[in-house]
Amino acid sequence: MRLAVTAAQAADGLYRARPIGARRLPDIFGYDILEALRRSGCSLCRVEAIDDRRWMDSFWREGKQDPGTRRRFYAAGGFCRHHAWLLHRLVAAEAAGAAIADVYGSLAERDIAWLDELRASLDRGKRRRRAPLRRGGRCPACVASAGDAERKVHFFVELLAEAEVRPHYQSSDGLCVAHFARALAHALDTDEEVARLLLDDWRERLAHVRDQLVEFDRKRDHRYADEPKGDAQGSWTEVIRRYVGERFPDDCD
Ligand SMILES: [Zn+2]
Ligand SMILES: [Zn+2]
Repeated sequence: MRLAVTAAQAADGLYRARPIGARRLPDIFGYDILEALRRSGCSLCRVEAIDDRRWMDSFWREGKQDPGTRRRFYAAGGFCRHHAWLLHRLVAAEAAGAAIADVYGSLAERDIAWLDELRASLDRGKRRRRAPLRRGGRCPACVASAGDAERKVHFFVELLAEAEVRPHYQSSDGLCVAHFARALAHALDTDEEVARLLLDDWRERLAHVRDQLVEFDRKRDHRYADEPKGDAQGSWTEVIRRYVGERFPDDCD
């Protein structure tokens, strides 16, 4: 029942398996999410990183040949910084620089033509109103990733309606604030029971990290310097993770 994992994904460790007791999982399409619940950090951050990588992998292998995809790539002036470096990492891992030479070479050709045109119009004493190199389109990988992310949040809420999935969620690291807010908004519209579960769970996790921060602060006092440091030492990392989500190897720009 395992979905295929590319060598690049496996190498990145996003999918490194953790030994767990085998349970029957309710839906093969929830595989990514259920797998992410067993791993560290916000599971929706993790599945987004995996989806992002899959999209970019298929872009440089074959998607870039599609005329519509190329058009959107040029309209955006290439990828945003995050996605351009993601492309670079994937291509570098397979020594396949020709894929970047192909699309960015054509982009450079187009931009040179545009700059020449602008230069010529300046020489003719005309000024264009459009700002130089202003792009009309959004990064196509960001557009794809936003659509995927929305579907994953909806699917996550549906999965939480399954009694069988809840223990996986409760034993996981929970969600970051951005994913919690989106999941909660969808649950409030579709399933109040899941909304309650999400609220109670997140409140409890937040209260825990708040208590740990208080404890950390208390232990900084010289009067308690001899006490064992304990879990509170990690609290100032934990609170950042809780608020902004996990930082995965794929996401380290
Ligand atoms: Zn997240
Ligand atoms: Zn992007």
